[in-house]
Amino acid sequence: MTFTEPVSTPLALLLLGRGSEPASERGVDCPGELPPASDPTLVARARTAREALGDRAFVLGHHYQRDEVIQFADVTGDSFKLARDAAARPNAEYIVFCGVHFMAESADVLTSSAQQVVLPDLAAGCSMADMADYQQVVEAWDVLADAGVADVTVPVTYMNSSAAIKAFTGEHGGTVCTSSNAERALRWAFDSVVDGGAGGQKVLFMPDQHLGRNTAVLQLGIGLDECVVFNPHKPGGGLTPQQLRDAKMILWRGHCSVHGRFTAENVADARRRIPGVNVLVHPECQHDVVLGADLVGSTEYIIKTLDAAPPGSSWAVGTELNLVRRLADRHPDKQVTFLEKTVCYCSTMNRIDLPHLVHSLESLARGEVVNQITVEPRMAANARLALDRMLALP
Ligand code: SF4
Repeated sequence: MTFTEPVSTPLALLLLGRGSEPASERGVDCPGELPPASDPTLVARARTAREALGDRAFVLGHHYQRDEVIQFADVTGDSFKLARDAAARPNAEYIVFCGVHFMAESADVLTSSAQQVVLPDLAAGCSMADMADYQQVVEAWDVLADAGVADVTVPVTYMNSSAAIKAFTGEHGGTVCTSSNAERALRWAFDSVVDGGAGGQKVLFMPDQHLGRNTAVLQLGIGLDECVVFNPHKPGGGLTPQQLRDAKMILWRGHCSVHGRFTAENVADARRRIPGVNVLVHPECQHDVVLGADLVGSTEYIIKTLDAAPPGSSWAVGTELNLVRRLADRHPDKQVTFLEKTVCYCSTMNRIDLPHLVHSLESLARGEVVNQITVEPRMAANARLALDRMLALP
């Protein structure tokens, strides 16, 4: 191991806002005095603090954020676009990231040491990122080595992973990917030569099994039978050495707790309810949902598709509810509905609310940095290797 190993604990449930594990995505304390959500002056207070900060602050808003927060974002986007936007603002002293923990970490990795990245609520983690714990990944790599396949495996980690996993990936010749460039990342991985050896005959894809499977099968033509799921909670990942040797895609057993809840029955039901509906889903959805949909793509793709859709067209959209509601408001001439009404908001994204934003902005305006996200330098350097490989993808 060539960088400081983060402290790792067994995967016990940490309730949001209770307990502390800053090295992982799991629930961390949110210190500080927050204004009450009922305070009628919150919008005015946020505006005043934002104006006082001027160009010293740059506020990023992920598409899944609440309306009350997104109205203060200088730019909106998915995790990839926001990472690039943060890197393109070298003069902003403070990067206020209205998103979740792994995004703020990536922003810290991609910005200079003179810039400070703030996550308005430190408890805004990501359940998917939490499903790949650093120590588990180290142990999984040992399993691959024992099966004789580590030398021909390239790790590819989704942006939705902790800085520690990105650092592991960078150190082992791999790349980060997003839902926009997963196909290019996989093609790059299969074409690459690892440490002068035989090259990328296999990919270890973390932590979202669905994005990995959907991309491999539907865009690269890899067979479902060439994909195996590595379960970090089982000895050997629940796989035999022969299964690992036969596989082309080794999918980490992780998923998004929002997108993973849509089902093929939801798609069938939307088609029954809405004649002529177009079903548009995110690739973090399960494989049979994606197979049943008309179109599949990243958050940015979903936005562009609805922007370009003809008036009068009908859409059932399988992605986070805050975004779907905003898209429905933005396109009153089109019928935009949520694919399944019982699937809820991303609860961790939703933790960033107006009281937390006001608290962060007012603290920064008086020179007090709160809720700062920092990645340890050596880990950041290795994570940057993987992020830079992504940014350089053809
Ligand atoms: S929507 Fe899913 S992947 Fe995105 S932050 Fe929430 S749990 Fe994580």
